[in-house]
Amino acid sequence: MIDNLAGNVYSYRMPITNGDITERTFFLGFIRLHLLYHAAQQPIYGLDMIQELRRHGYNLSPGTLYPILHGLEKDGFLESRPQAVNGKIRKYYRITEAGRSSLKEGTEKVGELFREISGEDQKTRHNVDVVDPLPKEVRRD
Ligand SMILES: [Zn+2]
Repeated sequence: MIDNLAGNVYSYRMPITNGDITERTFFLGFIRLHLLYHAAQQPIYGLDMIQELRRHGYNLSPGTLYPILHGLEKDGFLESRPQAVNGKIRKYYRITEAGRSSLKEGTEKVGELFREISGEDQKTRHNVDVVDPLPKEVRRD
């Protein structure tokens, strides 16, 4: 009975905690950079980017991705142009100059973070860590 209830709660919560909300709150910056990166290569559109992000392990619904694209456009990092494709209007986004400089800055920051959390930066980290955790009088040697 309790297991059953817990199971119900679990299956009810799974799509919420592991889905769009996690990606929006935790990985939103990565997703934005990823979109800017591809928009710097060639014009991008929503469905194509949903598939591209899925390839990288991010599962976003259109309801999450489109507001991100709109936000990047509103903030001046992307600009869109409607184009007719097979009788339908598709919105293509390309990167702006402001987008390019944010992409460059973001790439440097991601690289810096990666070097630290992956341990590549250990030597530097060790050199910076000069604080002795034990007072001198407590030390034995
Ligand atoms: Zn990609």
